[in-house]
Amino acid sequence: LQKRLSGAFGRFRVRGVLTEQNIQDGLREVRTALLEADVNLNVVQDFIAKVKQRAVGEQIIKSIRPDQQIVKIVHDELVALMGETDATIRFEKTGPTILMLCGLQGSGKTTTCGKLARMLALQGRKPMLVAADLQRPAAVEQLKTLGQQLAIPVHAETGVGPVQVCQNGVAAAAKAGCDTVILDTAGRLHIDDELMEELKTIEKKVKPHHVFFVCDAMTGQDAVASAKAFNEALELDGVILTKLDGDARGGAALSIRQVTGVPIKFMGIGEKLDKLSPFDPRRIAGSILGMGDIVGLVEAAQSAIDAEEARKQQEKLAKGKFDLNDFRNQIGLIKKMGSVKDLVGKIPGFNAIPGLDLDSVDADGDMKRIQGIIDSMTPAERADPSLIDISRRRRIAAGAGVEPADVSGLVKQFDAMAAMVKQMAQMTFMDRIRTLTG
Ligand code: GDP
Ligand code: MG
Repeated sequence: LQKRLSGAFGRFRVRGVLTEQNIQDGLREVRTALLEADVNLNVVQDFIAKVKQRAVGEQIIKSIRPDQQIVKIVHDELVALMGETDATIRFEKTGPTILMLCGLQGSGKTTTCGKLARMLALQGRKPMLVAADLQRPAAVEQLKTLGQQLAIPVHAETGVGPVQVCQNGVAAAAKAGCDTVILDTAGRLHIDDELMEELKTIEKKVKPHHVFFVCDAMTGQDAVASAKAFNEALELDGVILTKLDGDARGGAALSIRQVTGVPIKFMGIGEKLDKLSPFDPRRIAGSILGMGDIVGLVEAAQSAIDAEEARKQQEKLAKGKFDLNDFRNQIGLIKKMGSVKDLVGKIPGFNAIPGLDLDSVDADGDMKRIQGIIDSMTPAERADPSLIDISRRRRIAAGAGVEPADVSGLVKQFDAMAAMVKQMAQMTFMDRIRTLTG
């Protein structure tokens, strides 16, 4: 895939300029490359349309070649396609939290049970492993061996069915003071009704808090089909993609999220027990493209543009010239740096403030509203808000979908801000953001 994509991007290099025609040509090869990597056809089509839309609309950054810029666009869209990552597991306040791992035979369930147990133990939890794969006699032994290596207890028994083993395992965990139970279930080489029924019964009777689908990334298109089947039978909470250390082409990672909507939580990147990481779409996109350096370069160029914009603003501020146009730009710049909530969360010491509930901060919503109001003003009004009389206020409010009082509120806020402006001009850009969000 990497080679194909390099070829595709080579086209941009030859042409030199980002035109609709060479975007079209280049993307045709990206499309073929993705299809060859077993990415689902609908997903590919969607993806190409998105990249095209963004590429055509995007300003060409002066210091960057068009081919480099398009690599960045493809990279960003690949990351977006794989979805947001959240590898946190919510634990129950009382009683053991039950995790159930399911998937086809050989996908890496048993190994991943061991990896998860190890990771959670390092986080201070007390896991117990439950050997509920009674299809293969060796499976129970395999889990026992892992438990011994990790010094983590394993519940295994003979003579009862898998549902009973899980139920007894949960009881044994509670008795032993374990707070996390990891169920290693049976798989088949192919999806079959008997397997699904067994898993459904476990889900119904044992009520796991989280069901994870373990999936071999090397199986490409098949991985998507089995993810779909498991997701229809069980309520999947997450996917764990294994064997991403091999020459898996990443096609599975690209399609699974799109097709099932289930987030990919973790990735297995080796046979050893420490080879489990939170799923990182940037890493996958990077390895698919094999062009991480270019992505970094474009990011640096983009932030240089933002810095240049910030510097211009600062100059204006210093001269005491600051109107609603600038105010709007300022908001845009801050937004580019991420959500306000995230920014505030990153300020050292902020999280330690007692009673501060970051979730109740709706600065992002406020900013959007303010931007909407400013967008409904004419350039003259933005340059001189004192022009805004009752009828203009009504027009602006209607345009922005707010009340006229919100418009006068904003103008008042702006006037108050103008007073702060001189003071802020002496500050650095980061200080200003802190002032605005504080
Ligand atoms: P199960 O049948 O689903 O329980 O699968 P196993 O846990 O027994 O794993 C099957 C094979 O895949 C074993 O040889 C594992 O060592 C190997 N395996 C599991 N996860 C990974 C991984 O992330 N990377 C690599 N390279 N091999 C893995
Ligand atoms: Mg197994």
